[in-house]
Amino acid sequence: MIKALSEDLRNKVSAGEVVESPASVVKELIENSLDAGAKDIEVIIEKGGHQTIQVRDNGDGISAEELPLSILRFHTSKIQTLNDLFSIDTLGFRGEALSSIASVSEMSIMSGDGDGGGAELKINNGSAGEVQPAADIGGTEVTIRNLFYNTPARKKFLKTPRTELRKIVNVVRCYGLGFPEVTFKLIADNRDIFHVSIESLRDRIDNLLDPTYSRNLLEISIEKGDFIFSGFIGNLNLVRSRPGEQYLFLNRRFIKDRLMNRAVYNAFESLIKRG
Ligand code: ADP
Ligand code: MG
Repeated sequence: MIKALSEDLRNKVSAGEVVESPASVVKELIENSLDAGAKDIEVIIEKGGHQTIQVRDNGDGISAEELPLSILRFHTSKIQTLNDLFSIDTLGFRGEALSSIASVSEMSIMSGDGDGGGAELKINNGSAGEVQPAADIGGTEVTIRNLFYNTPARKKFLKTPRTELRKIVNVVRCYGLGFPEVTFKLIADNRDIFHVSIESLRDRIDNLLDPTYSRNLLEISIEKGDFIFSGFIGNLNLVRSRPGEQYLFLNRRFIKDRLMNRAVYNAFESLIKRG
């Protein structure tokens, strides 16, 4: 017998692709905040995200009427037609993140657009309660508790809180480097991990990587055909044997690309000692 999967089961199956770990939840939530034009993003983590992941922003907010739509699969405010797919200017567009995350956690979303009418929606095990009036926080706050509590096989694959936190720190750092015009605050178990305010990319690199870096940076700015390359590379004091501190962004998305890693390596090869 071939049968349609229930909506909740569809979400749980999709969740397998979207939510792999607390760090991927943090990634999705930060992308939503950036897409909403937030200039201020705060990430609060408890127990490496096993217990709590909370992202709060001062972006456009979600209206009370749209709140229930935000957690439905394939519901998005970012694209509408096939053509939109060819000129995407947001980080998200698939409308899958909130529905997936909600199906494998206890989620609550509080949002307000600054006009005084805030609202809150709580979702348990993929089923949403009623939208409740709430304080207008001038942005959105998404709280995830007990990630994977209802998918024990996935929960088993969570690494220790320490390891999961390290992955989260890396994710937030990547967005911090990609968006120096945004303030990022990361708090884990009541401890400030970092707090960086709107600044130049050069200062952001110092604050998120190492305070000695900026004096060893060479600015690059190249335009070639359809492409513009900008950013910084290290001088010979910053040569490393591994590409772990290469941060590449394509249209502001963090990417890993071996060809680009290789190109940087090749350019330095004749200048540095073998090995
Ligand atoms: P996508 O980002 O691909 O559109 P999501 O499931 O991540 O899909 O989010 C669904 C919708 O909820 C978004 O299209 C957006 O309209 C709204 N939304 C989610 N997070 C926020 C936020 N932090 N601020 C404003 N709107 C948001
Ligand atoms: Mg999204």
